[in-house]
Amino acid sequence: ARRLLTRPGPSATADFSAADATDVLATLHNDVRVLVVGAGGLGCELLKDLALAGFGRLDVIDMDTIDVSNLNRQFLFRAADVGKPKAAVAAAYIRARVPGLTVTPHVGDLTRRPPEWYAQFNLIVAGLDSIDARRWLNATLVSLVAVDPDTGEVDRSGLIPWIDGGSEGLMGQARVILPRLSACFECTLSMFDTPKTYPLCTLANTPRLPEHCVEYAHVVEYPRAAPFGAGVAFDADNPNHLTWLTDAAAARAAAFHIPGVTRRLAAGVVKHIVPAVASTNAVIAAACAVEAWKLATCAAGPLRNYVMVNGTAGVYSYTYETERRGDCEVCGGGGVPRTELLDALAAEPALRTRSPVLRVAATGALVWAAEGPPALVEATRGNAGKRVDALLERGGELIVTDRAMGGARTVVVTWP
Ligand SMILES: [Zn+2]
Repeated sequence: ARRLLTRPGPSATADFSAADATDVLATLHNDVRVLVVGAGGLGCELLKDLALAGFGRLDVIDMDTIDVSNLNRQFLFRAADVGKPKAAVAAAYIRARVPGLTVTPHVGDLTRRPPEWYAQFNLIVAGLDSIDARRWLNATLVSLVAVDPDTGEVDRSGLIPWIDGGSEGLMGQARVILPRLSACFECTLSMFDTPKTYPLCTLANTPRLPEHCVEYAHVVEYPRAAPFGAGVAFDADNPNHLTWLTDAAAARAAAFHIPGVTRRLAAGVVKHIVPAVASTNAVIAAACAVEAWKLATCAAGPLRNYVMVNGTAGVYSYTYETERRGDCEVCGGGGVPRTELLDALAAEPALRTRSPVLRVAATGALVWAAEGPPALVEATRGNAGKRVDALLERGGELIVTDRAMGGARTVVVTWP
């Protein structure tokens, strides 16, 4: 870490100064407070990575207790820890392994903490397994960032960068969210699939996989046979129900000569369980920890802003920038900033404006005058920081005049 901080490099951000290495490491150790959300498969990796990277003040929150099935990958836990709270055991392990750190556990539900509680941290790194928990955290972190309703200017003093990791089997993703500055979790909610379902015609007529047989037994045969009485819903946590399901699925699989139906598979299908893969967690947590370190030290620019890793066929990785949605229910309201409107008009091949004068077609109101009588130019300066939706309805018409164009054009302005 010291070596990375003592030399400038092409990746360093404008705020980076190599001379400050000792100070930066001291700040990392003494002052930067990082909250790790979740002490499960990703959380164990994150705590280890962050502690070894020089972060000295870690907090970890998790409501779960340790189950014997966690021990294969949640390596901060031992058999003797089964039944104990994950956050407390993980914190104690890190403290013992990396002396000199402050690691504070919080056992409980993250959604029960008020926004002020989150405001005490400088960085949040999350390894959650629930979309709902992420949505809650997202709304909380966005709410901490105030926005001037007139100018749309973001008050960065309340901004806490959030690095979010997630994994599912051999696939994972890491992302950096700067609430109200970059795409928030809600902006990109549509990226997340609903649990996998199979077409009923496949299940009924052409099953090819053991999963098809399990799903058929679950959605078709169980309601028809009502083996535990009419109206008794299937309960995946009831061992008798699971036994019945496994037997029914195995019988159907035998009829279609499909191997591979087991009780474990049946439980996985009906509970939509994707097996956790330790190495995926390690890769994703490492990416998240590096982003936290870069944000805290300015040694390199942050990830913009989403990276996915797919190990299902070879190893494939892809980085791209998710975009804010102007109408996002959480961080939007929104629309595109004015400068983006001017850029868009300048870039539009049919317009190519250079010094445009813009009026709202419906009202004649002057929105922008890049040139003309000084009083007019001055009068529209106040619109400089405003967002388009403060000036114009979405889909509204704008009359654009520009010397470069010659004559006026009517432009329909809309945004996502
Ligand atoms: Zn959003």
